[in-house]
Amino acid sequence: MKSPTVLLVLLCAGLQAGAGAQPALRVNAERVVQHLEALSEYGKNPQGGVSRVAYSEADRAGRQYVLGLMREAGLDVHVDAAGNLVGEKPGTDAALKPIVIGSHIDSVPEGGNYDGDVGSLGAIEVAQVLREKGVVLRHPLQVIIFENEEGVMLGSTAIATGADEARLNSVSQSGKTVREGIRFLGGDPARLPEARRQPGSIAGYLELHIEQGAVLEQQHVQIGVVEGIVGIMDCEVTVEGFANHAGTTPMNQRHDALLAAARFVDMLNHQVMLMPGRQVGTVGWIKAQPGAYNVIPGKVTLGMELRDLDAARIQELFANIRKAADDIGHMNGTTFRFDTGSLSKPALTDQRFQALIAQSAKDLGLSTLLMPSGAGHDAQEMANLGPIGMIFIPSVGGISHSPREFSRPGDIENGANVLLQSVLGLDRSPEGR
Ligand SMILES: [Zn+2]
Repeated sequence: MKSPTVLLVLLCAGLQAGAGAQPALRVNAERVVQHLEALSEYGKNPQGGVSRVAYSEADRAGRQYVLGLMREAGLDVHVDAAGNLVGEKPGTDAALKPIVIGSHIDSVPEGGNYDGDVGSLGAIEVAQVLREKGVVLRHPLQVIIFENEEGVMLGSTAIATGADEARLNSVSQSGKTVREGIRFLGGDPARLPEARRQPGSIAGYLELHIEQGAVLEQQHVQIGVVEGIVGIMDCEVTVEGFANHAGTTPMNQRHDALLAAARFVDMLNHQVMLMPGRQVGTVGWIKAQPGAYNVIPGKVTLGMELRDLDAARIQELFANIRKAADDIGHMNGTTFRFDTGSLSKPALTDQRFQALIAQSAKDLGLSTLLMPSGAGHDAQEMANLGPIGMIFIPSVGGISHSPREFSRPGDIENGANVLLQSVLGLDRSPEGR
């Protein structure tokens, strides 16, 4: 029922996407793949993939390599106060706000060569093609390679909403604090507010990314048109029972907190699946106390999270879960306490951008699917500054954050071409934002 075709065709009228002034413009796929291979040397692991965590030597060297590619693509590049690489190319109309494209090149420990890299190098390729073909956009074009996406999404946060002290003082995977890391990449934490931009200061942000899931591959679809990036609610749950002797306490007189927690895990899964929609819910960790063979657990803490595109749905689901937890507690005289931690808001993509991406893909003869992003991306931060759009390409086997992460060269080419055509379509937009 989520098929976007009819709606998107209607919405598209306002953006004049696809077939237009530059129908023949295409990316150089061989070059993108060659750049991907070259970038994969930075932080390369013997078992495949990379460990290019933010602020590591490999990260800094990889960013230096990418900076060179940005200059070759005709961009005027600087490192902003947050340590982001920002490449700029003026448009013909200086009064227009910039079209921003980009992604990140840092990885998780023992990560792959596609998460972030495809979107970063795809964005640079767009600039390179424009330069080679002598195409100057009306809008200024900016390519941003954000820093530390995988850790605390620092680069895009600094640009969009500002990074707080807690985030700056947190210790990254490299062992450096974020503050030290920003300096290591050539930024200046003392001048961080200078990197920040105002809401409404961009014409839009477009990001190409691998799906990191298996939906596109399983449904044999070439391009994912991202509806939005899900919101995430974290909650620590404490189950209180009564610790007692595991040999002498009859089964019908126990207040076993772990038994109640086990029922809770199963109930959460059931509640999430009961509600129609694509929401997901997980219990990711659990700790029983006192934690001995011969003691009935008296206290259990566990971590749950819920994700959906709709914040109200997350709250509704959470209310259902809490109510059902009370019923579980009544079964064996245990109590549940919920301490909600972080709550990231869902970031919806702009419907006109969805239409633009879908039309660009259609003009290239590619199939599309409107889908949520279950993973976080820099785009969710950029949504605070202006309209965003995201383009997904298939991840083979749905594998990501792993050395086995892989996207086919043909899919990378498709994604980069959709990005290119979407940038051109947005540039032609009569709204002139
Ligand atoms: Zn990523």
